Amino acid sequence: MGPSYAYFQGKIVPIEEAKVSVMTHALNYGTGAFGGVRAYWNDEEDNLFIFRPLDHFRRVLNSGKLLMMDLPYTPESMLDILLELLRTENYQGQDVYIRPLIYKSAEVIGVRLHDLASDFTMFAQPFGSYIENEEGSRVTFSSWRRIDDNSIPARGKITGAYANSAFIKTDAMLAGFDEALVLNQNGHISEGSAENFFLVRDGVAITPPIYANILEGITRRTVMHLLAEEMGLEVEVREIDRTEVFIADEAFFCGTGVQVVAITEVDHRKIGTGTIGPVVRELRSLYFDVVRGKNPRYRHWNVPVYEAEAAPQGEASQHQDHTG
Ligand code: PMP
Repeated sequence: MGPSYAYFQGKIVPIEEAKVSVMTHALNYGTGAFGGVRAYWNDEEDNLFIFRPLDHFRRVLNSGKLLMMDLPYTPESMLDILLELLRTENYQGQDVYIRPLIYKSAEVIGVRLHDLASDFTMFAQPFGSYIENEEGSRVTFSSWRRIDDNSIPARGKITGAYANSAFIKTDAMLAGFDEALVLNQNGHISEGSAENFFLVRDGVAITPPIYANILEGITRRTVMHLLAEEMGLEVEVREIDRTEVFIADEAFFCGTGVQVVAITEVDHRKIGTGTIGPVVRELRSLYFDVVRGKNPRYRHWNVPVYEAEAAPQGEASQHQDHTG
């Protein structure tokens, strides 16, 4: 089921009214940037919790900076709009995916970033899994390379850059894989088509650095924290070669969309035993509790959509969304 409403041109309108012209700059040239946020339904509390929304909106606005957009929004005002949108949609008993999008709304021909009007829109819809085989995905190394910071910065979620992700994802899927790993221009691993990457070797979790041309993932940051603080693993940020994956004990993708997905086979080689390993299994269980608001230690990452009847334990707060 799709959304019934959208925030569009400054107000919440029925989704049918949220339409742009074919002349829109962002549609022609890819001059937009987006976010992907999830909200999780918590049955016990009868409430919907948005996961780390301020971090997502900060990243959206940073992408706007890269694109020279002048937008009259702050992360806090975007969160207020999101709360109003979700209460209007009133999705009960289901998880939700939220798409904030900023874009060059000017209706003119001409490739550039400057002197163009921009706008912000957002919609939300019910959403389940992104990858089918969450406990055992089959992955290939893409023949495409990741965009470089000096071509289109991967740290911005720039709409035009997602043509790169689309090439990668389609070739992988049509070849019978669930996802792909992508090498950067230097031949080291960057990430998946739309998710960050980790491997586990001898009890150490390893993930590529930001300068490997990855998105500055919010799930990556969350997972790094959980691995270190909750599971006691050493977390190493360094470049990873293609063949190191083949001899890893475990590997996984993470992202708002995919959540935490075990990689159990890469280019016909089993990773570890070829089934989900203990680190990824425990991390998945920890992660789902945290995002759903069931772990009191991380309630500051969960923003409730509806007013709680009784104050929940922990330090839930609408406007505290610590990075970490
Ligand atoms: N890398 C890319 C290219 C992505 O599109 C995404 C999804 N937003 C991610 C990583 C994961 O980022 P996050 O955890 O912030 O959703």
